[in-house]
Amino acid sequence: MKIVFASNNLNKVREISNQLPDDIEILSLADINCTEDIPETGNTIESNAILKANYVTEKYGLPCFADDTGLEIEALNGEPGVYSARYAGKDKNDDKNIELVLKKLAEQTNRKARFKTVIALNIDNEQHLFTGIVEGNITHEKIGTNGFGYDPVFTPSGFDHTFAQMDIEQKNIISHRGKAVKQLIYFLTNTK
Ligand code: IMP
Repeated sequence: MKIVFASNNLNKVREISNQLPDDIEILSLADINCTEDIPETGNTIESNAILKANYVTEKYGLPCFADDTGLEIEALNGEPGVYSARYAGKDKNDDKNIELVLKKLAEQTNRKARFKTVIALNIDNEQHLFTGIVEGNITHEKIGTNGFGYDPVFTPSGFDHTFAQMDIEQKNIISHRGKAVKQLIYFLTNTK
């Protein structure tokens, strides 16, 4: 089965490809000659995942799934949430986003946070949503060099190292995206 993954984020592609069985093949946006920036104008993680998947299915008539992810920090009332990519400004800049989070939490003892991923899948004229959540804590400084985004400052509950200190296999077992992708694979394998 071939299915488009509506993302230009190579880190996400790597993580998801690592989990997929041999009979499910991902097509990238480049593979279908989609060069435009897909709008992410929704107010929720769910709506952005849906917007991205619908864009590809409506424009290219192909089965497609999209992932949208947010980091929700308890002491910041769920921020940055749906605004995680551009928290520190218009340009997507992971270092600046992390800097801002650490600054806002500087005086905070409550470091609780969670990552949430929603995958929207369009296939056979149906839409299905899969959600994965991982609870954890924000560190006081960046630790580790693997991964991407907020990984260097997120320690999942029950672990004493950040996602950025884990390899892809380890992260996939416990992560928000890993959990959502597991549901996606189960659905595709058992119903399609
Ligand atoms: P989006 O889902 O591509 O819109 O990502 C939103 C923001 O969350 C971006 O700043 C990403 O770098 C960050 N992000 C997405 N997934 C992860 C992850 O698995 N770990 C850490 N940061 C992530």
